[in-house]
Amino acid sequence: MLQQTQVKTVIPYWERWLRELPDAAALAAAPEQRVLKLWEGLGYYTRARNLQKAAQQVVSTHGGRFPHAFDAILELPGVGRYTAGAIASIALNQPAPIVDGNVIRVLTRLFAIGENPRDKATNEQLWHLATQLVQAAARITNYELRIAGLVVSGACSALNQSLMELGATVCTPQSPQCLLCPVRPHCAAHREGRVGELPNLGPRTATTSREFHAFVVNCDGKLPVTQRPSGGVNAGLWEFPNVEVTGGPATPAESLHTLLQLRAHPEPWGEIKHTITRYRITQRVFRVTLSGKRLPERAGLHWLPPAELHRLPFTSAHKRILKRLTELAQ
Ligand code: SF4
Repeated sequence: MLQQTQVKTVIPYWERWLRELPDAAALAAAPEQRVLKLWEGLGYYTRARNLQKAAQQVVSTHGGRFPHAFDAILELPGVGRYTAGAIASIALNQPAPIVDGNVIRVLTRLFAIGENPRDKATNEQLWHLATQLVQAAARITNYELRIAGLVVSGACSALNQSLMELGATVCTPQSPQCLLCPVRPHCAAHREGRVGELPNLGPRTATTSREFHAFVVNCDGKLPVTQRPSGGVNAGLWEFPNVEVTGGPATPAESLHTLLQLRAHPEPWGEIKHTITRYRITQRVFRVTLSGKRLPERAGLHWLPPAELHRLPFTSAHKRILKRLTELAQ
């Protein structure tokens, strides 16, 4: 849950998740739509699906007990080198390295590494440094860190958490607080006056703008929604009918006809902007009210009353449309 997501956003999700799916067996057996509903709003839904597949593997291969061996953790669906290292070191205090954006920033500055950390050789160099650091920590026994009421047992766990925390709170991308930094005496970038130029991430990837027309059509209290196909982005999640119009001259009325074969005058209802990877997406939302008409039918189109919509997991952007709909109805 914490990948690409802030702790304060995750806490209510985490608490609700543990209430509803308290162990691997419960998660393994849950219907996928329930899992996606619990994840709704966190984005990157592949994580939720992989978590369920991992729970199924924990049940089928490890008798319901989470494996402790690094290689067995790495074999779980959705678990790569970083996640396996985080679990093995933070939860189990094993000398496994982790390298994420925060750690990259700290290490490139501490060791004054000027090459782009996205280059394969430099990335491997960073993993190697992180391995050496956590292996050095493993030689410290009976280590316990008490900070702000929290107890971190084990030096490997503390080392990796400290590296990430240092990057998140002190060695930040802009305006790092070098004067407060506990590792300043060891920092080569600080010594050489190169803090501002590291890490060298190269030119930024250009963003691309995309535009969609989305429709909230109310026909005698029922609204059409569709489920996204499996295998693509946001697979299995629900959304209001929408179509991409980037670069095209389509009017909202034409888009509505393309989607639902309906002739009507869509009324502008607002805009939702969001970003997915390098795409800046604008959803122009339109409202259509019909009454006494036969509901247009199309494969995959479901006409549902608002109460039923709330039981479905929606994509993040369309969840905002549903929220607005609910607020207006109150
Ligand atoms: Fe980062 Fe400055 Fe600390 Fe070096 S001294 S690790 S640049 S905060």
